Order: sequence, then C-alpha cells, then structure tokens
Amino acid sequence: MKSADIRQAFLKFFEEQGHTVVSSSSLVPGNDPTLLFTNAGMVPFKDVFLGRDPRPYVRATSAQRCVRAGGKHNDLDNVGYTARHHTFFEMLGNFSFGDYFKREAIRFAWTFLTETLGLPKSKLWVTVHISDDEAERIWKDEIGIDPERFSRLDEDNFWQMGDTGPCGPSSEIFFDHGPEVWGGPPGSPEEDGDRYIEIWNLVFMQFDRDASGTLNPLPKPSIDTGMGLERVAAVMQGVHSNYEIDLFQNLLAAAAEVTGFNNTENPSLRVIADHIRSCAFLIADGVLPSNEGRGYVLRRIIRRAIRHGHTLGAEGPFFHRLVDALDVEMGEAYPELREAREQIARVLLKEEEQFARTLDHGITLLETALDKLEGVVLPGETVFKLYDTYGFPYDLTADVCRERGVQLDEEGFKRELDAQRERARAASQFGAEASINIELEGKTDFTGYEQLEDSAQVIALMDSAGNELATLKA
Ligand code: ATP
Ligand code: MG
Ligand code: MG
Ligand code: MG
Repeated sequence: MKSADIRQAFLKFFEEQGHTVVSSSSLVPGNDPTLLFTNAGMVPFKDVFLGRDPRPYVRATSAQRCVRAGGKHNDLDNVGYTARHHTFFEMLGNFSFGDYFKREAIRFAWTFLTETLGLPKSKLWVTVHISDDEAERIWKDEIGIDPERFSRLDEDNFWQMGDTGPCGPSSEIFFDHGPEVWGGPPGSPEEDGDRYIEIWNLVFMQFDRDASGTLNPLPKPSIDTGMGLERVAAVMQGVHSNYEIDLFQNLLAAAAEVTGFNNTENPSLRVIADHIRSCAFLIADGVLPSNEGRGYVLRRIIRRAIRHGHTLGAEGPFFHRLVDALDVEMGEAYPELREAREQIARVLLKEEEQFARTLDHGITLLETALDKLEGVVLPGETVFKLYDTYGFPYDLTADVCRERGVQLDEEGFKRELDAQRERARAASQFGAEASINIELEGKTDFTGYEQLEDSAQVIALMDSAGNELATLKA
C-alpha cells in the first residue's frame, strides 16, 4: 500500500463512521503564540476542545502536516538516527468533540488496523496510562487484547500538546517489527530500540492545563488520536525504517544525486531527505529563515542539512535542488507546495549561498578544536564562537560533536551569551545606531567584517529543545 492509499483509506474509514473530513492546516498555528509549529493533528482543533470554537460537527478526521523541531515535541536530534522520527511528518487523526469517548475510540482504531489494514493482532502491542482501569478493561474485556502484549505506563501515556493546553491520559499502539531488530517492548529497559514502533496514539482528552500547571476539566471528555503516516507505510510496505518507504526511497535517490554520495543508508543522507520536507513545507507556509522565533528554527534546520551535505562531499549549493523531487512525491497531495516550489528553491539557494561563506571556516575551527580536545566536553567559548562568528546554531555544533562522542558545555555557552548581552546593553546607552557599530567593531578583530552580518542582528537563541536560551539585541 502506497502512502497516498493509506491516507485515503484512513479518511474514508472515519468518514464512514460519521466524521467530517477536514483538510490539513498550516504548519504555523493560526492563533496560538504558545506553539512554535503545528506538532499534532489536534492543534487546529485546540479551541474546539476547549469549547471556544463551535463547529457544525462533533466528529472530524484529518491528515495534518506536522513539524517537530522545537518546543515540547522536538525530534530534531533523533532524525537520521532512529528509524521512526522525522522533523516533518503527516499525522492521521480522528477527533471527537464531546461525542464518543474511550470505548469507540479504541474500537475504531483496532478495527482500522486489524480489518481495514489487515495487520496481524499478534504484532500489535498496547499501553495505557498507569491510572486508567477503564481503558484497560475495554482493551482486555471488549477487544480481547492478549495480556502478554499489554502494559500500563506513566509519563509516556499522558499526552500534552505543550506546557499548556488540552491534555489527557492516552493509550499507545505499537507494531512489533520482529526479533531481527534491536529493542524491547514499551516500558522495558530496551524500549528505546526500534523493534516496537509506536504507530498510533489515542488521547482521552479531559483537561486543559493552565500556565500555573493546574489541570482544569474540559467542557466535555473528548478524543484526539494521531497515527504517523510514514510509520504505518513502513509497516504496510513490509520494511522496518520509515526511510525505506516509497516516498523516502525517491527522496534519498534525489539526495544521492545532488550530493554525489550514493549510500541511502547513510544517516547524513537521511537527514537531508528528511530536512527538505520540513524546510520546503515551512517556507510554503510562509516562514522565512531569520534570526528569531520560527524563522530561526527553519534556519537551523537548513544549516543542519547543508552541513550534512558538506560532510558527504557535496560541492556548491545542493539542497535547493531537491525541491523538484519533493514536488513529484508530495505536490499532488499538497497543491500549496507545488505552487510555492520556485519560491522555496530561491529561498533555500539564498540561504545556502549565505551560509557557504562561513561553513568551511567554522568546520575547520571545530575540527581543530575537537582534535585538540582533552576530555569529552567542548568548552562553551568554542561553541559560542562558532555560533556568533560562523552562524553555527547550538544544535549544529551538537550534531557534529555527537558524531565524535563529545558533549557540549552548555552552561559555559550560556555565560558567553549573557556576557555578550551585557556588552550590548552597556553599548545601548549610546543609542541603537552606536550600539550596532560598537558590536561590530568589538568583534572585527577576530572575525573579519563580512562574516559579521549575521551576528549583528541575532535576537533570539533556542536550545535543542526549543527553549529560548537568551535574547540578544545587538
Ligand atoms: P515516539 O514515542 O515514537 O517519539 P510520540 O509518542 O512522541 O512518538 P505522539 O505525540 O503520540 O508521538 O504522536 C502521534 C503519532 O505520530 C505517533 O504515534 C507516531 O506514529 C507519529 N509520530 C510522532 N512523532 C513522529 C516523528 N517525529 N516522525 C514521524 N512520526 C511521528
Ligand atoms: Mg516523541
Ligand atoms: Mg511515545
Ligand atoms: Mg505517543
């Protein structure tokens, strides 16, 4: 079954169960400043769950484009290293706004998996929240799940969109890819392996968490589910990794062509094939690379892709050349991508040209520092210099270090940032113009003037979890 057929089968199944098919919203959440990007299918329905946005339906289904590269759900560091994480992916979901609850949600999911998709029951594993007797009873007594493939878990089974917003206990369904793959069942010490891959999460939405952390009951218990299209495609296509599905094989082939590096199992090539999707869709949704907020996250992802291309030996700009291949794979399902493809390629090319100027120097500096390093922690000053002078986001340096088994001195890095902020503040008593000049002059000594364009405007910086580390007003 191709990805497109799975998407279609899912929407049709839920439409037949009385759900209204709602099209994917933008990756930039409509009116939610608490959230960086749409990170789940429920995001466009947040206010519906909260009872603030009445709709003419109580059941909905969607295939929602999602990005998890910052904020509460951040998978950036996993990409290329696990078989199942992307920065961009599609989440298939069904939603009940105060209509059906646990019983129907569990039954719908089980019927779709075992009947519509025809997955063997013996390959499925289920977890529920540690406190959830009701869900356990439904799974065991009504569905007849084998108790051998069932467990109760704590944090993993409490789902929340972000630090605030709708949340509730959940039930996760896993697919067992078999003993050839390393990993243990959910809750076991080896659960981080990729043998048991979570495919579907059913959330029993019951609360709205407010800024003080208090859980306030929702107007009515509701249902939010999310199933990763790429993970299910892997299952249906009889492959283990998401990167082996139809769509990714073609993107990997394109990445191999533009980088001149031909091994589609290489993590760097996978990172590139992954990142073109998030970057292209973010640009199509109106995000542009910049030094703050969403634009900075986009810039981080683009630079990460460029750096990986560089390690594979790509010469000159290559990343923007993947837009056509992506359009072939996804342009039909997403007309907004097709329409924006020239603009996307232009934005990426510009970013590639801009970053190329400093990438070589920065990499050389980093490699030298790593070669000379005694111990396993890269000093904060080096991380800061790379960031400040060469435009290396923190997590790009972390990415290189990870490949070498080296940790970063995050505290030292933050101290450097604070010191720089202090200098900027001190300078600002001379007025904005003067402060920029002083900042530039102050650094001209060791950087060369040209490379400073970027650092002069740096405003916000986030760590790999998307938390803001510091704000700089240079
Ligand atoms: P995992 O534990 O594997 O990181 P999760 O519990 O964080 O997944 P949910 O927040 O429950 O994921 O999201 C619902 C579904 O979306 C998951 O069951 C999975 O199928 C899919 N999904 C989640 N994160 C990703 C990702 N980074 N890439 C691809 N699919 C994903
Ligand atoms: Mg996760
Ligand atoms: Mg999980
Ligand atoms: Mg989950």
